[in-house]
Amino acid sequence: MDNYSKHVAILGGGIAGLSLGCTFLKEGIPAVIFEKMSEETSHGAAISLSSNALSLLDRLDIYSDLKNKSFLHSKATIQGPKKSICTFNTPEVLTTRRQTLMSLLHSKFKNLGGDIKYDHALIKFDDKKCEATFSNKQKYHFKHLAACDGIRSSIRDTFFPSNQNPKYSGYSAWRGIGKSPLKRVHFALGPGGHVVSYPVNNDGDVSFVAVRKEDFQFKESWKEQGSLNNLLHDFSTYDPSIFPKLKDGEPLYKWGIYIRPPLQSMISRNITLVGDAAHPMVPFLGQGACMAIEDAYTFAMLCKQNNGNFIDAQKPYDLLRSKRTKKMQKASLLQGKIYHMKNPLLVFARNSVMKYTNIPGNDLKKIHDYDAHQEVLMFS
Ligand SMILES: Cc1cc2nc3c(=O)[nH]c(=O)nc-3n(C[C@H](O)[C@H](O)[C@H](O)COP(=O)(O)OP(=O)(O)OC[C@H]3O[C@@H](n4cnc5c(N)ncnc54)[C@H](O)[C@@H]3O)c2cc1C
Repeated sequence: MDNYSKHVAILGGGIAGLSLGCTFLKEGIPAVIFEKMSEETSHGAAISLSSNALSLLDRLDIYSDLKNKSFLHSKATIQGPKKSICTFNTPEVLTTRRQTLMSLLHSKFKNLGGDIKYDHALIKFDDKKCEATFSNKQKYHFKHLAACDGIRSSIRDTFFPSNQNPKYSGYSAWRGIGKSPLKRVHFALGPGGHVVSYPVNNDGDVSFVAVRKEDFQFKESWKEQGSLNNLLHDFSTYDPSIFPKLKDGEPLYKWGIYIRPPLQSMISRNITLVGDAAHPMVPFLGQGACMAIEDAYTFAMLCKQNNGNFIDAQKPYDLLRSKRTKKMQKASLLQGKIYHMKNPLLVFARNSVMKYTNIPGNDLKKIHDYDAHQEVLMFS
């Protein structure tokens, strides 16, 4: 049996787990990933990444490949359901297929000599012995566990006393990729809903996320299959040309967006939470994966600074990341309220701020200017 007693075990091979694995290996700290699926998968269509995450992907030497396969933006347009509101300059944002980012992270991890154990679903963890048992009956002992097991984290459920179960946020989202000549990020804001569209490469592939407030509680899978007709029905007050041309007969999915209230702390004995396992958020600022990448970089670099002592790295990690991610969870919820305003007076005020001031662009810049590398250096 493989011996991982000197390794940090990373539970989950999503964006958080792979980013963390790459940073650990790059810094010479042994790490192994355990993933419950049989192979690399990536749910959801596309993703937008801002400079706070891109600068860290650059430190992993994958930014330049990512850029070649993606679309870089500096402008965004905003409209009401039918009428244009404004165009504004955004700080640099890259949009891409999720699969593109996942494949690059995966290849990087493998090239650094990383080991991913697929078909390993964690069923039990002993935090005193730091020992994990998986559904295939394999048992391993490690130095530390980094739980990157997503919003439904079983580690969070078991070891974090202030934990609360995921709850439906009240928002549902349609997501898909089709063809369109769109060459920028485009927001269509309407009462009780919004649609964000952007190209994911230079070949005319455009992704959209169409969000609506609705009371419906999703089933266990948190998603359901729908048709183009259902989508257009849900967004019947919007100009249909905002949607890219979707392939005939291709299934479309509608996701329930779930959240969990903030934890008191992201750390426990021998366990560190990273990414959505620690702080899932509504996606209205496009920061969930960016936070996962910031977490991953911060924890791995603090471990390096503390000569591979994970326990010593945990406190500064919790200090830095709890503050930043709580702020982002709150700001993302507020953004949803701004996008979905119904009161005509408030809508007029919102649109005027967007049209006549730089406030939206400046607010985004503040979020995107965060430099996880500099923050870590403060603890050296
Ligand atoms: C509609 C929508 C749009 C979004 N758009 C953006 C965006 O534009 N920009 C952005 O930055 N973020 C965006 N996000 C958020 C982003 O997708 C998430 O924050 C990010 O994917 C979280 O990554 P993760 O690795 O923490 O979790 P996950 O991607 O959920 O990965 C968790 C992994 O753990 C594995 N796992 C779970 N349990 C176990 C177990 N017991 N044993 C072994 N393995 C296990 C899972 O199989 C999975 O591979 C969006 C989210 C939504 C819903």
